[in-house]
Amino acid sequence: MITTTNPATGETIAEYETLDKAAIDRKLARAHDSYRDWRTSELSRRTDVLSKMGDLYESRKDELARLAVTEMGKPISQAIGEVEKCAALLHHFAKAGPDMLKPETWHLSDGGRAEGRWLPQGPVLAVMPWNFPYWQVVRFLAPTILAGNVGLLKHASIVQGVAAKMEELALEAGAPEGVFQNLCIGSDPIADIIADDRVIAATLTGSEGAGSAVAEQAGKNLKKVVLELGGSDPFIVMPSADIDQAVKDAVQARIQNNGQSCICGKRTIVHADIYDDFADRFIAALKDIEPGDPMDEDTELGPLSSESQRDTVLDQVSKAKEEGATLLFGGENIDRPGAWMTAGLLTDVEVGSETGTDEIFGPVGQLYRAADIDEAIRIANAIPYGLGSAAWTHDDSERERFANEIEAGMTTFNAVNGSKIEAPFGGIKRSGHGRELSRFGLHEFMNLKTVVYP
Ligand code: NDP
Repeated sequence: MITTTNPATGETIAEYETLDKAAIDRKLARAHDSYRDWRTSELSRRTDVLSKMGDLYESRKDELARLAVTEMGKPISQAIGEVEKCAALLHHFAKAGPDMLKPETWHLSDGGRAEGRWLPQGPVLAVMPWNFPYWQVVRFLAPTILAGNVGLLKHASIVQGVAAKMEELALEAGAPEGVFQNLCIGSDPIADIIADDRVIAATLTGSEGAGSAVAEQAGKNLKKVVLELGGSDPFIVMPSADIDQAVKDAVQARIQNNGQSCICGKRTIVHADIYDDFADRFIAALKDIEPGDPMDEDTELGPLSSESQRDTVLDQVSKAKEEGATLLFGGENIDRPGAWMTAGLLTDVEVGSETGTDEIFGPVGQLYRAADIDEAIRIANAIPYGLGSAAWTHDDSERERFANEIEAGMTTFNAVNGSKIEAPFGGIKRSGHGRELSRFGLHEFMNLKTVVYP
């Protein structure tokens, strides 16, 4: 059984019976069978399913958002935004996707011609996390459907209601049975599913531990993986920045999704010339954030996704203090049922220490002073991760340096960093490999077949 719990109250929401071996086998057989038809389905049929799914996400956004809030505690306004983003992505792939599948032609020196065709390959397993419970899945599912592949979802245990709802919506939008199936399982059966010949690849978003377990099993079985494993993104503020806006966005970056976003500024790095001014305002603004009922439209910070996630963050704060960091305020347990804690801020974190390199997946920021751009880039890169980054500057030469020298899959200027529905998304270093979104994401699990015409 998997039990889901409302992190705002600590109350049990539902219990789900997990699939046994025979039931998993039936799901894999269905995926295999439905792929046989889906792979040759008309492209217009696939885009029609995507459009209808987009319409359903848009028209049901309130209901879907409430379900996510109940299961993982993000503020309702952000949950609605997440569902709207899913709808936009589904419509985007429905419209722009067919062009991404057009073959490419090469004229050969022997007078012939070669064509690169994008063909589907089969069922793909997606192991997904709870933090953006719709978006992380739709980011995988939209290109899967468009490609003519089929999807199997192992969602995080704590969001099983969302997982079941997503399968329901795909069917309602006209996806044939088996094109997208939810597997209600814990992580134990995953190794056998990856090893199964009917599954051609796996994609995972989550922790390094889960990523390396999935990648190891995929490697053993010679299957491709895409991994998105989070990070500890830098948020750099230079003297030419609009300080008011930078402060607002630095707070937003640290508390959005209750501090549980893989791709948001977790380490705020500020140029010495503006450090004191920025720090005063940043501290005041972050201190002002009051945790509140996630169902309330004005709430900016809700509970963490689970009590164990909250405890992990509290342990990280204790570890930071042991390492000599200063906790300026907050970062404390709130003694009431559920997974509550206050927002907090650490300074004097030693670059390269455990605190300085670990991902803190909760509303606790880190503030660094950098003497110049060289030091800012050095601090930014002094972590094992490389997912996103944000830099605040209006100086073109600084922008060039940040764009080229920050070790990350993404750099955003003068805004909170976040994935864009049209652009590639993914990381480097221990943040994973491969890309999602855009044609690069679409092509990850497709066969680029070279067809030669002499
Ligand atoms: P996990 O990485 O454990 O969970 C993500 C998914 O992987 C879930 O579906 C989970 O299933 C599954 N999983 C867990 N262990 C394994 C395994 N050994 N083999 C295969 N699949 C596995 O995240 P947690 O919820 O435990 O969060 C821990 C930390 O991970 C966070 O503090 C944060 O640092 C990071 N994280 C990063 C995310 C991101 O967006 N990059 C998202 C979530 C977490 P189940 O739920 O059943 O355990």
